[in-house]
Amino acid sequence: MTSSPNARSAERVRTEFLQFFAERGHAIVPSAPVFPQDDPTLLFTNAGMNQFKDVFLGTGTRPYKRAVDTQKCIRVSGKHNDLEEVGVDTYHHTFFEMLGNWSFGDYFKEDAIVWAWQLLTEVWKLPKERLWVTVFGGDEKDGLPADKDAEHIWIEKAGVARERVLRFGRKDNFWEMGETGPCGPCTEIHIDRGGPETDPADGARKEIGVNAGNERFIELWNNVFMEFNRLDDGSLKPLPAQSVDTGMGFERILSVLQGKRSNYDTDLFTPIFARLEEIASRNTVAPRRYSASASRADVAFRVCADHVRAVTAALSDGALPSNTGRGYVLRRLIRRAARFGRQELGLEEPFLHELVPVVADVLGGTFPEMRARLDHVRELIKIEEQSFARTLGRGLVRFDHLYAKYKSDTVPVIAGPEAFELYATYGFPRDLVELMARERGLAVDGQGWDKAEKAHQDASRSEGKFKQLLSAEQLEGLPATNSTYHEAGDRSWRLETEYLFLAADNTNAHDGRLVLAESPFYPEGGGQVGDTGVIEQVDRMWRFNVEDTKRIGGVIVHIGTQEGFVERPRMRVIATVDRAKRSLTRKNHTATHLLHKALKEVLGAHVGQQGSEVSPERLRFDFSHPKGVSPEELERIETIVNEQIVANHRVQTTVEDLEAAKARGVVAMFGEKYDAKVRVLDVGGWSTELCGGTHVSASGDIGPFVITLERAVAAGVRRIEALTGPAAVVEIQRQRRRLAGAARLLKSAPDEVEARVEQLLTQLKEAKKQSAKSSAGGIDAAFTRVKEGLQSTGDVRHGVFAFADLDQNSVRELGDRVKSLAPKLVVALFGREEERVPFLILCPGAQKGSPLAAGELAKLVSAKLGGGGGGRPDLAQGQGLNAAALPELERELLQRIAAGLQAVAAR
Ligand code: ATP
Ligand code: MG
Repeated sequence: MTSSPNARSAERVRTEFLQFFAERGHAIVPSAPVFPQDDPTLLFTNAGMNQFKDVFLGTGTRPYKRAVDTQKCIRVSGKHNDLEEVGVDTYHHTFFEMLGNWSFGDYFKEDAIVWAWQLLTEVWKLPKERLWVTVFGGDEKDGLPADKDAEHIWIEKAGVARERVLRFGRKDNFWEMGETGPCGPCTEIHIDRGGPETDPADGARKEIGVNAGNERFIELWNNVFMEFNRLDDGSLKPLPAQSVDTGMGFERILSVLQGKRSNYDTDLFTPIFARLEEIASRNTVAPRRYSASASRADVAFRVCADHVRAVTAALSDGALPSNTGRGYVLRRLIRRAARFGRQELGLEEPFLHELVPVVADVLGGTFPEMRARLDHVRELIKIEEQSFARTLGRGLVRFDHLYAKYKSDTVPVIAGPEAFELYATYGFPRDLVELMARERGLAVDGQGWDKAEKAHQDASRSEGKFKQLLSAEQLEGLPATNSTYHEAGDRSWRLETEYLFLAADNTNAHDGRLVLAESPFYPEGGGQVGDTGVIEQVDRMWRFNVEDTKRIGGVIVHIGTQEGFVERPRMRVIATVDRAKRSLTRKNHTATHLLHKALKEVLGAHVGQQGSEVSPERLRFDFSHPKGVSPEELERIETIVNEQIVANHRVQTTVEDLEAAKARGVVAMFGEKYDAKVRVLDVGGWSTELCGGTHVSASGDIGPFVITLERAVAAGVRRIEALTGPAAVVEIQRQRRRLAGAARLLKSAPDEVEARVEQLLTQLKEAKKQSAKSSAGGIDAAFTRVKEGLQSTGDVRHGVFAFADLDQNSVRELGDRVKSLAPKLVVALFGREEERVPFLILCPGAQKGSPLAAGELAKLVSAKLGGGGGGRPDLAQGQGLNAAALPELERELLQRIAAGLQAVAAR
């Protein structure tokens, strides 16, 4: 294929896809964040259908039955993991966009297939003789027949030649999101990228054709017909409705439409390469260029360009690099890119962060969060790169240890787990570990490595597994709960309803699960903790203490313990939220909004919410800000929030269209998935923010607001904790008690504590000065005593002196001055610090082995006084422990010195 001069830009292809389906009654919906908010089975969004999982399962609804979007996906963990391919092949990325069209119980196979074919062959005019179609060929184990409907539609309705429709088994043509969940047979469209010289019939050949895993035949578009729910026991259950879920790799279709052999040659990547070429050529004579080859340098180019897109997407949605779960995956991506850059492109300095602006430029039109958080993301990546540079150094040290450990073995082999540790902990790739080992004459236990790697993968796979709230079976058939916490009046906290589902056997187990038809309980979300309370049978024979509330899709799940006996199914119950706690939570939640706004006013518009936790006890707010908040700034923030509280604004909620709300500047949280209709919380027109939580009705209800903590939580992210209402009063009282206590100890009034402490500090300083002076005086006096007391034998001046008022430092200082008294000295100086005896022996000019060497004399001291000490021939020092032996030691030393002088003179 050749590149056509008027090739479609990325921007245009994306729009054409969305428009094609919009014209066919599909609502254009935004991409969900790149990691799911409320589905802990997934670390990252791996397909367009993730955000609609609840709709397929029948637990959630949307205001539309047809939708179209481009979804940000990351495939580096769990069931879909393409990491090993990335950079090596030309069509798998860690981060990619999945174009999708959706039917929720509306159209099914026929429309989906016919439209897909129209778009590809009529709008985009792809050559039919290069397209292949696959359908599900059935599966015995699941008891499913071949998908003859799809086959029929392809041939009869779309007009695809019969021999171009191929059957494949469950592995290729039965799509599943994960171990459990919605799934169904699928039909795929593949393209033959072979040149004109290749045989168009090759696609049907098992070994080289479709699904043979080569780069000539690649999958473009998958149309899944969602019909089943895969349950925990592996069985399939029909879904309430038949739906369509399609996914087309945007980068792949783009490369085809732009006439390129590789996704990396499209305008999504070329600007990133251009920048990377510049960076990599900075310190080289010959510029480094990307050339689309399989060379190691080109693989490195592709890895860096790919990974920086993935990391930028995830961090823009609010993820942070860390040592666990999703954050760990991101950390590894940054390290992998940094390592490739270092080894293959000679980039020793952090460089990846410099590519972020290009990514934001290329993708920011479609995903505005990337532009909005550009500075924050760049900073985070830079800090990661810097810390990796340090880790790498530590890894080399670790390797040296291993070398030392194994080098003298007859057959030196580094054990598997230790070698693998260099990869897992320090980020060294396997070939590098093997190379380094070989260079130093060691081998690596390959099987041991494989085993260690397997264990590691199993462990990281279970990271993504979570204690499910309800199993797929339990969830099956439960309708969305009718939530009433936003209603006016008593039903917002108490109502009578019937219970639908209960899983709780043990009276004392805290993990009972209860689902009701209606519920006033607020489920954890938007930073606000779940409500607590009681659900009891109307005649009070049974009750369920709600300790927490969460949701799966639209189903609200009450978690807690039960008491008594359930009498009959579908019994009537009264659900009552703990109102006192709810009321405290509301104060904290509304205050959180005021705090967010005040932070923006005082620190600047760059402040963005990174996380928030609102409980009855307190509020916690994490936000992006490059440095600490000064005490003055904190005071201003606190004052502003309290002013807004005292103004007693009305707090109003309206339900609006998401786009309209954003357009008028309502603050939305990045990385949060919003429905098309959103709740907008407005506090007196001063703070307007999207929020589904529970709030006070007038800001004055919050009561006093007190900040209790400000600190860093991660690079570029700060945390503030604060209290409101009664808790704030308690805090103020506690502070006052502390101050009163201090005042009592200082014997002053609370108002005077500061002055009093200042005064005491001045006194203390003065006293220290005095004592320093007197010790200086002590040294002066001691020096005079030494000077006048030294004896002379020939040209050697000698003596032993003890000073009860000199500490160790003073003895040293004295020694420095005594040194200047004569070129040849043999002098022992003793001080005193309680029971200890610091000493210094000066024998300038003494030779090693001489009886007058300082080290020799020090041995005598240690023998008499205990403790330690030692030194060179000219100088020894130490500290004795037994002051009582000092007088006797002095005598012995004098004798020893006299004898030594004689011996030396006799030589
Ligand atoms: P493949 O067999 O090529 O890995 P897949 O079967 O894993 O594809 P699906 O899960 O059906 O793909 O995803 C739908 C579409 O998303 C695919 O048809 C393909 O165009 C695209 N796609 C899948 N994985 C990637 C990836 N890692 N990078 C880019 N595009 C991808
Ligand atoms: Mg795949």
